[in-house]
Amino acid sequence: MIKVLMVTSEATPFAKTGGLADVLGSLPKAINDLDKDNVEVRVIMPKYSSIPKELAERIVHKKYIFVKVGLSQKYCGIEETRYNGVTFYFIDNEDYFKREGLYGYYDDGERFSFFCRAVLDVIPHLDFIPDILHCHDWQTGMIAPLLEIQYRGLEDYKDIATMFTIHNLRFQGVYGIPFVKDMFGLGDEFFTSDKLEFYGGAGFLKGGLVYSNILTTVSPTYAEEIQSSFLGERLDGLLRARNNDLHGIVNGIDYKQYDPVTDSYIYINYDVDSVQNKVKNKVELQKELNLPVNENIPLIGLISRLDSQKGLDIIIRVFNEILEEDLQFVILGTGDPKYELFFKEAAINFSDKLSANIKFDNILAHKIYAASDLFLMPSLFEPCGLGQLISMRYGSLPIVRETGGLKDTVRSYNDETKEGNGFSFTNYNAEVMLYTIRRALAKYKEPSVFQDIIKTAMTDDNSWYSSAKEYLNLYITMKG
Ligand code: ADP
Repeated sequence: MIKVLMVTSEATPFAKTGGLADVLGSLPKAINDLDKDNVEVRVIMPKYSSIPKELAERIVHKKYIFVKVGLSQKYCGIEETRYNGVTFYFIDNEDYFKREGLYGYYDDGERFSFFCRAVLDVIPHLDFIPDILHCHDWQTGMIAPLLEIQYRGLEDYKDIATMFTIHNLRFQGVYGIPFVKDMFGLGDEFFTSDKLEFYGGAGFLKGGLVYSNILTTVSPTYAEEIQSSFLGERLDGLLRARNNDLHGIVNGIDYKQYDPVTDSYIYINYDVDSVQNKVKNKVELQKELNLPVNENIPLIGLISRLDSQKGLDIIIRVFNEILEEDLQFVILGTGDPKYELFFKEAAINFSDKLSANIKFDNILAHKIYAASDLFLMPSLFEPCGLGQLISMRYGSLPIVRETGGLKDTVRSYNDETKEGNGFSFTNYNAEVMLYTIRRALAKYKEPSVFQDIIKTAMTDDNSWYSSAKEYLNLYITMKG
């Protein structure tokens, strides 16, 4: 039996700000389902006060220990629940995690220093000594270095192998060297450029990349791209040096959670054979969002963090031109105030065409996936991207830029071969994107072609099955 403890700062349905949570909420079960007798994945994460009440009530307190952060001893509750057949552990400390949101606080460095230390310290108390610690993103980056430097000699830790998955290389958790030294009690010798030092500071993410046995990221194309200076975020040299240990495995989505046949959040259920009913979702959404009701007008959806990564600069550049087309546009997102303001203002000026919903709203997200005909995701870079996978599942055709996971999952419709599941363009350029949007709108006017592309998109397999197998194979190699 291979025992894997995945470490994350978010997982659905407990806490979510983006795709990381979707992955941690669905991949563990997908791996466990492959071979229940021979692999078990469990998950450990912080116990945020924002965990929905009905879930929080089911979390059981097991015991508590004290964990060293800097010079002080901090309370660390160990809590547990099972969800969807997967065991989730929670690290409880109200000073650090009883806050409204997940991140963005002045002391995030200390909060996640505590979390990294706590994960290692609770292992002997879990009844589940992992063979593999599988850490995700910068918040967990210091676990592999600490394991190697401070825990390796101890009985419970001596055989633990480490895997680190990059969901977004841009967020790195870089702090001052004196601070990181103090947090973890590390000596000067670990702050050299081949270890934790990063351009004068110390990087959590870099620590994970230097010290973990195996590295993965969430699509084969992103695995290539981060080895170049353009998307390497100043870690491309290190990633090139570790090229043999770096694997790109594309994310899947939870086919139960995102299923137009059973989804209780959408207005009317449908499947690939009754896709003509999808339009009823458009009509209902138009009513709900006060857009003119018209089932023939193409509806473009955009659901995203409002961040420059997501291609918003090229959208804004030609936004007037987009809205001059015969279409409706529904936006759902939060993030950078400059984009929030832009879309709020535009929605006032174009109230008959644009609905801008500046909030995080999972139910509305499902409704938009079901209601829209096209889904815009022209990212500057995109490690994997889940929006395009969810939209295809709901028969909303993605319009994407060919980068990272978007390139690996969307095949631009080809007029000659009649093959494709969406529309894509190569260069990060507003005019080229506009051209591609117009191309998609033209196809919308050819209903039989458009229906064929929808069929292809809806029947493509973007479930976790094959990617979960790739993770399991890596675990088997690591253990062997
Ligand atoms: P990232 O992780 O970079 O934010 P992904 O495409 O991998 O991007 O995942 C985004 C996830 O978050 C998707 O499940 C998407 O539907 C969801 N999402 C993004 N913004 C919102 C929002 N404002 N309301 C509801 N869900 C959102």
